[in-house]
Amino acid sequence: MSTLCLLFGDQLNLNMSSLVNLNKAKDHVLMAEVRTEASYVKHHKIKIAFLFSAMRHFKNTLKAHNYQVSYIDYAHKDNKGSLYEQVRFFCSQHKITKLVLAKPGEYRLFEDIKTWSQKLNIDLEISDDNRFLASESDFSNWASARKQLRMEYFYREMRQKHQYLMENGKPIGGKWNFDGENRQKLPKGIKPPKPTSFDQDQITKDVIKLVKNEFKDHFGDVDNFHYAVTREQALQVLNDFIEQRLENFGRYQDAMVQDEPWLYHSHISFYLNAGLLLPDEVLQAAQAAFYEQNAPINSVEGFVRQILGWREYVRGFYWHFMPTLKTDNYLDAKVPLPDFFWSGDTQMNCISQSVKQTKEHAYAHHIQRLMILGNFALLAGLDPKEVNEWYLIVYADAYEWVELPNVSGMILFADGGQLASKPYAASGSYVNKMSNYCANCHYNVKEKTGAQACPFNYLYWGFMQTHQHRFEGNPRMGMMYRTMSKMDPTQLSHMLDDTQIFIKNLNA
Ligand SMILES: Cc1cc2nc3c(=O)[nH]c(=O)nc-3n(C[C@H](O)[C@H](O)[C@H](O)COP(=O)(O)OP(=O)(O)OC[C@H]3O[C@@H](n4cnc5c(N)ncnc54)[C@H](O)[C@@H]3O)c2cc1C
Ligand code: SF4
Repeated sequence: MSTLCLLFGDQLNLNMSSLVNLNKAKDHVLMAEVRTEASYVKHHKIKIAFLFSAMRHFKNTLKAHNYQVSYIDYAHKDNKGSLYEQVRFFCSQHKITKLVLAKPGEYRLFEDIKTWSQKLNIDLEISDDNRFLASESDFSNWASARKQLRMEYFYREMRQKHQYLMENGKPIGGKWNFDGENRQKLPKGIKPPKPTSFDQDQITKDVIKLVKNEFKDHFGDVDNFHYAVTREQALQVLNDFIEQRLENFGRYQDAMVQDEPWLYHSHISFYLNAGLLLPDEVLQAAQAAFYEQNAPINSVEGFVRQILGWREYVRGFYWHFMPTLKTDNYLDAKVPLPDFFWSGDTQMNCISQSVKQTKEHAYAHHIQRLMILGNFALLAGLDPKEVNEWYLIVYADAYEWVELPNVSGMILFADGGQLASKPYAASGSYVNKMSNYCANCHYNVKEKTGAQACPFNYLYWGFMQTHQHRFEGNPRMGMMYRTMSKMDPTQLSHMLDDTQIFIKNLNA
């Protein structure tokens, strides 16, 4: 009579709540590379290679810590293709009375797992996913006491509760948020450090071969795979970030640069989301850099806000609003995703850069995801279902708990404003202010209508006109509507026409 722990591929940490109470002498851990999880959407090849390699390395870690691990790789003769069938098969071979697992990151899987106890006739114990600092009930309690949910207030409570960047009950530096100092363009001549990269070991090489054979038709390239696949390597990425990039993280957080995908970002989302790093240790490392005077408050606070604020917030938001979040479409957006989201073949340089980097690295930094690709998806009225699937496929850090709130809530306003107080919509002038993309573009960012005009310009004003009835009363959009009311009506009408023609021709 023993317990089986099912460990998911994104729970690669010895402190997982599902592992800590196991009896190593008689209980088992099951890990499996199953087809259903690897291909329910056509995940980027890098994402599959990263997770399979990290899982295989973590299996070795578990064994070194005397766990009894049953690891079913993709080509294993007993691979049953789905997690349920794999657990069922294991139970049929062993005397298992109890299945334990930490809550999975996706609603779809969680709903399925809830039915297993009855189907398998065993006890099922689902523990909290302790890779996060706020539990789901923490978030729900916070949310249910409010009419409006705003990340900023959640973040302040998290700062107080976990005592990050706090002194005598007050935020260090006298304010909660230093965003005003974090909007600089990268000056010419400054070269960001190269990202930390690793040689492929034999495990990674084997996995890449497998991915190339089994997932040929999935998005992206895998040959240049250079990511961390163990906790030690992930810690090295974190340390390099703290030493080489954190100082400038804040000021250049929103900058975008031609042919520079990495800039001063941390590149740790893959590892945080797979369990190789935990939020507390990341936050402590950043806070220590501030106290040791290695990084200024605007950078450290900005970084802490991403992890302690946004990351925790979107995860709580996901569970709070599922399953309806998945089908929300407040703006009634229906335009199919254009082909250039896959190929990057478009004359819009900012989009081409963002898509091609995504294809090569399974990574794009936040402002590319939000203000280039996301802004385009919002303004062009792309169908939320297709946009969500795209974001889930293309990034190696994408899991539904984090992807869906960012896409349906943050970029598409599909949730009707539950997450964001106004749509993150911008014209070409924002892109021009924060990047050097426009200088390399076929279009003219200064022109608002006509064949040479930057599409973001007419799409922006087209969006404002189309949704005027929805947003005119929004206090945060009042200024833009006052500006619009002073604009030449003929020009506005041309921009609406250009918008309609552009959208009609998107997939032509
Ligand atoms: C439309 C859209 C889709 C996104 N999809 C994902 C996704 O699938 N997976 C994912 O991890 N992040 C996602 N993000 C958030 C963010 O873009 C990535 O976390 C970040 O780009 C990862 O790179 P980095 O590690 O270099 O981050 P940094 O810029 O260095 O930020 C540090 C960390 O903060 C966290 N973080 C920052 N912003 C967010 C956010 N909005 N939501 C959650 N965590 C955040 C991440 O863990 C990140 O590693 C998305 C953002 C947008 C706008
Ligand atoms: S001109 Fe417009 S389309 Fe071209 S890079 Fe600038 S914002 Fe993008």
